[in-house]
Amino acid sequence: ATGRGRAEYFSEALAAGIAQGHQLESELRDAIRDDQFMLVFQPQVCASDGTIVAAEALVRWRHPRDGFRLPGSFIQRAEETGLIVEIGEWVVREVAATIARWGRIGIEQRLAINVSPRQIDHVTFFEQLRAEMRAANAPARLLELEISESLAMRCSESVIDAIRQLRVDGATIAIDDYGTAASSLPRLRRLPIDRIKLDRSLIEHVVEDAQARAVAQAVIGLAHGLGCEAVGEGIETRAQADVLRVIGCDVIQGYAIAEPMAEEAFIAWARGVTPLGEDTRASA
Ligand code: C2E
Ligand code: MG
Ligand code: MG
Ligand code: MG
Repeated sequence: ATGRGRAEYFSEALAAGIAQGHQLESELRDAIRDDQFMLVFQPQVCASDGTIVAAEALVRWRHPRDGFRLPGSFIQRAEETGLIVEIGEWVVREVAATIARWGRIGIEQRLAINVSPRQIDHVTFFEQLRAEMRAANAPARLLELEISESLAMRCSESVIDAIRQLRVDGATIAIDDYGTAASSLPRLRRLPIDRIKLDRSLIEHVVEDAQARAVAQAVIGLAHGLGCEAVGEGIETRAQADVLRVIGCDVIQGYAIAEPMAEEAFIAWARGVTPLGEDTRASA
């Protein structure tokens, strides 16, 4: 894997790494079989008045030994082994059911899901997505698909067609982690998208660094120029939220607003937020 004409000693560390990878893979298979995944929800709010506009669904693994595990510790292995397809199918099913369940209790909230390369390239992904939404009686307009910038730059024409069809149904498309990959602007212009999510690395220094602020503002201008909404992610402080509002960001998401929450906590949170900053939550 490191190239031809090279020899490498088989080391203890290498062996341990391989064994760990195999163990993770077998634990992931158990997790799929035993239903150990759950979703948490992080609100996205309007930058100017704080009203909730959507939520992002993020997967968590209730590991029998380690407790909650974050996607950073298993999504990559799930990608490599192809298990992401099954995990992704579970996420799609769960999101469709959640949209329908919330609809019945009067929460009309758009829910965003994340998709990885192996998933979106899988022939049946879009079919399954539409079938699950239909079966759950969940309207497509309450679904958003988040596709990372790097993935968006290399989707095939057939995937782009499927995305286009999904938008015709009413779903929205967001480019995730924008600003982290080398992306082609002419290509971005031709993609059927609704929102651009500024990666946390674009947000991090906007308060103290004028150049960081200029870059964020330029990306927001780009989003608006393409007819998209700009969403800032990873907003950790009030000061960052204020700067983003001032430079024209439409929607913000991050720990400063709320951390990802289990369903019940999310519903309570969403009900506590009223328009124009009349915040009935205990603290913001
Ligand atoms: P992402 O889509 O960019 O999601 C945002 C990540 O930033 C989440 O991490 C979220 O918990 C975290 N975050 C939110 N606000 C803040 C903040 O203010 N500060 C900081 N430092 N972080 C914040 P999480 O949940 O660990 O997910 C990591 C990544 O894993 C996601 O990045 C996404 O790419 C992937 N992922 C999550 N759920 C799924 C899923 O269901 N399917 C697939 N394929 N990928 C997923
Ligand atoms: Mg995301
Ligand atoms: Mg993101
Ligand atoms: Mg990110």
